[in-house]
Amino acid sequence: MKKIKFEKNGKIFTLKAIVCENKDLIKFMNRDYFLKLCKNGCSNYNKNWSCPPNSPKFDEFSADYTNSLLVEVTSEVRDKEDYMEAYIENRSTLEALLSKMQIDFECLKTSCGTCNICKRCALLDNKNCYHPEEMRYSMEAMGMDLAKLSEEIFDHKLTWNSENKKSNICTSIGSILFNGTFLEDDFCDLARNYRF
Ligand code: SF4
Repeated sequence: MKKIKFEKNGKIFTLKAIVCENKDLIKFMNRDYFLKLCKNGCSNYNKNWSCPPNSPKFDEFSADYTNSLLVEVTSEVRDKEDYMEAYIENRSTLEALLSKMQIDFECLKTSCGTCNICKRCALLDNKNCYHPEEMRYSMEAMGMDLAKLSEEIFDHKLTWNSENKKSNICTSIGSILFNGTFLEDDFCDLARNYRF
């Protein structure tokens, strides 16, 4: 696993990247459990083509690829900063890197949350996705247990904001799927040299 730190808008981000075989990631998939959680607790359930129950299972989605480069970005939630602001910043940082990598290395990225390409998802108007070539699914939407994955693979326990306890660390996880060889160093070099 590679770990680097970089600065964006005066804020320090820590990035960890690791290559895994997709067959070894299937153990983190618990699609039925997360489908139920989404259905009972998420306002995006069945309101976006990228979200359950419209998202595929990770094993189906990754079937044509042997490997994933998993990337975890963490940043501190600054004093007075809203957790959601930190999340948006984290997400856009990671999405920018993965999108760049998708082009440079001809691989397929997963997203870090619900697709937000359109202001109003076509699903709400009973239409097909307007940008199927660009739209991506997140690993959690494909049934992956990211809390377990983060703890086992990145040695990092995810924390969330709750009414009783504020989290001062914001974490986002994304990935790219690829075949053949690919080095964690390639990603770290790209991240180091990326101009946000
Ligand atoms: S690209 Fe637009 S229509 Fe397609 S999933 Fe994303 S928000 Fe919905």
